[in-house]
Amino acid sequence: MEYLSVAAAQQCVLESVVALGAEQVKLEQSLGRVLAEEVRANRDQPPFDISAMDGYALRSADLAGIPATLEIIEDIKAGDLPTKTLTPGQCARIMTGAPMPQGADAVIRVEDTEAKPDNRVQINLAVKSGNDIRRLGENMRNGEVVLTPGTTITPGVIGVLATVKCAQVQVYRRPRVAILSTGNELEGLDEPIDLNKIPNSNSYALMGQVQALGIDPVLLGIARDDPEELARYLRRGLEYDVLLVSGGTSVGVHDYVRPTIEALGAQMLFWRVSMKPGHPVAFGKVPPTKVAEADAVQGARSAATQAYLEDRQGSEHRATQQCAAAGTFVFGLPGNPVSSMVCFEQFVVPALRRMMGYARTYRRTIEARMTHNVKHQPGRTEFIRVLLAKEAGGYAATSTGAQGSGMLLSMARADGLAVIPADCNGLTAGNAVTVQLLDGTVFQDDAGFKE
Ligand code: AMP
Ligand code: MG
Repeated sequence: MEYLSVAAAQQCVLESVVALGAEQVKLEQSLGRVLAEEVRANRDQPPFDISAMDGYALRSADLAGIPATLEIIEDIKAGDLPTKTLTPGQCARIMTGAPMPQGADAVIRVEDTEAKPDNRVQINLAVKSGNDIRRLGENMRNGEVVLTPGTTITPGVIGVLATVKCAQVQVYRRPRVAILSTGNELEGLDEPIDLNKIPNSNSYALMGQVQALGIDPVLLGIARDDPEELARYLRRGLEYDVLLVSGGTSVGVHDYVRPTIEALGAQMLFWRVSMKPGHPVAFGKVPPTKVAEADAVQGARSAATQAYLEDRQGSEHRATQQCAAAGTFVFGLPGNPVSSMVCFEQFVVPALRRMMGYARTYRRTIEARMTHNVKHQPGRTEFIRVLLAKEAGGYAATSTGAQGSGMLLSMARADGLAVIPADCNGLTAGNAVTVQLLDGTVFQDDAGFKE
């Protein structure tokens, strides 16, 4: 198989995954989720013409000569209903949000008036008909579609949902994600230090990346480089919507991930992408029937998965049943810690966001100016970890230091990934560069960089 460009691999991922089914959550739990239903207004808002100011409701025709003195015939507070109709020369004291009285066609702010004895007020400014009135239905009309499926639930959207009394909201289900690390050399977080081993950082860095998208993943642990042990772990992973496997995806004699996952029924869609750091990175789908077969072979769910499920509420449990029905997407990520994280950003972020129903799936990119030279041999798209600093007219990007694919500190310090196109012969200080931001809740429609 040929090496795919990053863009072609991203396209392959986004053509393969679809939004998952919907579930109902309480409004209080809906922040950041994606609406899976159309929402309509259930009344006119505001329900009548109301005052936009604390002041006086009056007849604009009475303001031909300024100052004008009017008689106050009523005091209308927010929540009151007016009881009187204004006739020429009359006004009503009114509070913000209170309904306009019959006969009035404008509001004057209290700041533009002076109180006078005997229930009178002097108006010092002429205002036009309609001044400072919020019209019936100007926010929303009864029956009008106010929110469409695919809308990200922001605090503002929560306000709209509360306005239309949506105490329960239909949102897209979040994918259930499992993370598996592979390698004989790996030492678990809870194991004693053995200086001959490599600490398993990938499971946790990936966990953080998944959590940053609003999903709590399940860590399956470490599988040794042994086809049978690996198969046991991978089968467990097929109980989830998405399985992330770190390590063992290249072509070394002990890299068993690809043949083993294929033996479990995976259709591999790609396993080589022309990127640095990154390749080898693999993506495949295990169809539902294969998941069911793998379950049957396994006999029962693993104790860990069972405990996890028992810990959860019914809806989560039902979600697990649906997983097997939809199949599992498998990402084989490189073992090198930086490569694993960079590949996650390029391929797993768009996939998980698509599954959660978001229209915008890609990390946000900005344009920056590189503060130093960057060497680059034409061939692969390169992602350089950079720090960003605001400067006049934009941002300055500076490498976080040594860029080896095992140098996790270069990632820990980074604000973003500067994308060096495959055909680029290197950059000189001052050149423009596209930087993919590694943080934030604003996403975009496309990858935003050229390769
Ligand atoms: P692999 O892709 O399995 O050939 O691994 C490439 C490099 O990444 C090796 O040096 C591994 O020790 C390292 N590596 C693999 N998995 C992990 C992990 N979970 N955490 C930290 N380093 C890892
Ligand atoms: Mg390995």
